[in-house]
Amino acid sequence: MTFEGKIVLITGGSRGIGKSIAEAFAESGATTIVTYRNAIDNEYFDSKGIRHFQCDVADIKSVQEMIDKIISEHQKIDILVNNAGITKDGLLMRMSEEDWDMVLDTNLKGVFDMTKSVTRHMMGKRYGKIVNITSVVGITGNPGQSNYVASKAGVIGFTKATAKELASRNININAVAPGFIGTEMTDKLPEEVKAKYLETIPLKRIGSGKNIADAVMFLASDMSDYITGQTICVDGGLVM
Ligand code: NAP
Repeated sequence: MTFEGKIVLITGGSRGIGKSIAEAFAESGATTIVTYRNAIDNEYFDSKGIRHFQCDVADIKSVQEMIDKIISEHQKIDILVNNAGITKDGLLMRMSEEDWDMVLDTNLKGVFDMTKSVTRHMMGKRYGKIVNITSVVGITGNPGQSNYVASKAGVIGFTKATAKELASRNININAVAPGFIGTEMTDKLPEEVKAKYLETIPLKRIGSGKNIADAVMFLASDMSDYITGQTICVDGGLVM
């Protein structure tokens, strides 16, 4: 698959799933740009020819400034991958308002901020592919993650609403719902929780960032031109 000539923007691309997605696009010839919030390995990303911007997706002003800068340099953004996400797990009775707000602001409002700022330009070009990274728990629910689950279920609804709204402008908007993928986000789970998850995965293995990148690239390519508003689970069969 080649993305030669395409401008791809991936939020939260400094590590984990976002980094795998960025590497896959860069290897396929796309001009690849990632965002992050705290820190990035400049040397590594520079060596791969991947541009990087520090930008909090929850801060719409910084998002708009970054998008304006990218547009002034590249004139377009063809593909947006809304990947940045965080967890602040806890049972409802013990969950602080701050932890609720932080997760919703990053995972859901961040997708709104980015999509609104980028589609303004995609509409003019009458072309765009947006892939939102949600989670299987946004479909199934999960105890101890009411903030995260609400944000990810929100992303699925947002994907459908925006897909309907922007279809006439030739902008396809879909979501990928990862299951259990080996990253820093999942590394911090207790070993017994990981073992329990593994038992429930029909394919009996934890997924990789590349598994997610493969699905994202399909949804960002012309092979999925007639698909919009969908959520594809990439989860070893966990949810079916
Ligand atoms: P990760 O390893 O924790 O990486 C998260 C990335 O998001 C980092 O690049 C981080 O940047 C960035 N980020 C966090 N808050 C941000 C903000 N406010 N603005 C901009 N960037 C921000 O996470 P991951 O496991 O790769 O997960 C990626 C996505 O997949 C998330 O949306 C997650 O919910 C979803 N997901 C993951 C799994 C899994 O099993 N790992 C399963 C289902 C869904 P900094 O390093 O600078 O903070």
